[in-house]
Amino acid sequence: VTPYSTDHGVKPICLPRGQVAPKEMILEQLRLRVARVDAACCEPGEEDAFYVADMGEIYRQHMRWKMNLSRVKPFYAVKCNPDPEILRLMAKLGNGFDCASKAEIDLALQAGVDPSRIIYAQPCKTRSYLRYAAQKGVKQMTFDNADELYKIKTDFPEAELYLRILTDDSSSMCRLSMKFGASVDSARYLLDLAKQLELKVVGVSFHVGSGAEDPATFIKAVQDARWVFDQAAEVGYELHTLDVGGGFCDDTFERFAAILGKAVDDCFPPHIRIIAEPGRYYVAQAFTLAAHVIARRDVRDPQDPARDAYMLYLNDGVYGNFSNIIFDHQHPVAQILTSAANGLESAGSSTGSSPTDGIEYSIWGPTCDGIDVISNRITLPGLVDVGDWLYFENMGAYTRCSATRFNGFSDNHDVIYISSEPGASALLEY
Ligand code: PLP
Repeated sequence: VTPYSTDHGVKPICLPRGQVAPKEMILEQLRLRVARVDAACCEPGEEDAFYVADMGEIYRQHMRWKMNLSRVKPFYAVKCNPDPEILRLMAKLGNGFDCASKAEIDLALQAGVDPSRIIYAQPCKTRSYLRYAAQKGVKQMTFDNADELYKIKTDFPEAELYLRILTDDSSSMCRLSMKFGASVDSARYLLDLAKQLELKVVGVSFHVGSGAEDPATFIKAVQDARWVFDQAAEVGYELHTLDVGGGFCDDTFERFAAILGKAVDDCFPPHIRIIAEPGRYYVAQAFTLAAHVIARRDVRDPQDPARDAYMLYLNDGVYGNFSNIIFDHQHPVAQILTSAANGLESAGSSTGSSPTDGIEYSIWGPTCDGIDVISNRITLPGLVDVGDWLYFENMGAYTRCSATRFNGFSDNHDVIYISSEPGASALLEY
């Protein structure tokens, strides 16, 4: 087991591909780990929730990116999941990094990348972090307002600046444009001011919102960026890079990539460098979380006693790794990993089950707060009791990075790294 730390001393597990499908590999590791935990006598924390991370999945997403968006160089958004093994793989894949803070800049540098492969993509920066970026040689950064330009003039006048523009992110899951982005109308004023301050503007950036649903937003944003490039030329800047941000999702990727790729090619000649800041796309599917059932409450309807219904309490919840329910609008789906009563191991998900062919549960986190609910109603195909384990797929994006220690629970859970792709294993030297 490799704990979540920057220490890569423990060898992750590399399983040969082709023998077992990635999901089977993941389930095997989950089962092996939970089999070692005896809730009746284990030390506090030994039964804590833990992850299995498939680095092969990240590698496959990278190949898919290359096939569909070959012109666009990814700068992985560290905020999405700053796991050091992920960062190490991203660095080996040749990707850059989008960092939002001093700590993220440090993580990217620790992954071994040159500062030129980092963009400090936070338009409203802490001044001491700006000076830190200058000290570390992290020159590329975004801005979207005049005050930021004055700060940059004082703290890092040599910075290479990207003007972040507003997008219409109304159809995205997590909206960002109410907080960041200069309107296209204000772009000329900001470019003039930057010129007056003798600052170096090198590009334009935007973000269509995380979990974007309307690919047309990309078309409009690229066209707006083109207009800003032209304005910049009038001011005397020769911009060389367009940063198309994040917002890419697994299930819509090919469709979005085709539309974005065409828009970019239509508006920007080949000598303009195109970069992106994908987060969720790369890592959401790569992490599976297992959590322990610490308590159960029978909530059978007295009118219908034959029909079982229970509240289950897990040792992880919305203040922990399920923070994605609150902050990222996700709906993680429980599946049974072990069920002692049914002799079940990995009985499968509730998908497609009706109340007549399963048992109804609500699933709760461990804290005292009523908001700490993972699932209000779910049907699972078996009896789950205290001591059993559930697992949740697609838990790689915006989960553990926004976990808290509320009620004294740990925010530091083990990760078992595996690789279902020889390509990833080779890069990581697993
Ligand atoms: N870039 C910036 C500036 C962001 O704020 C975010 C997410 O909030 C991302 C990139 C990553 O977005 P996503 O995970 O949707 O790809």
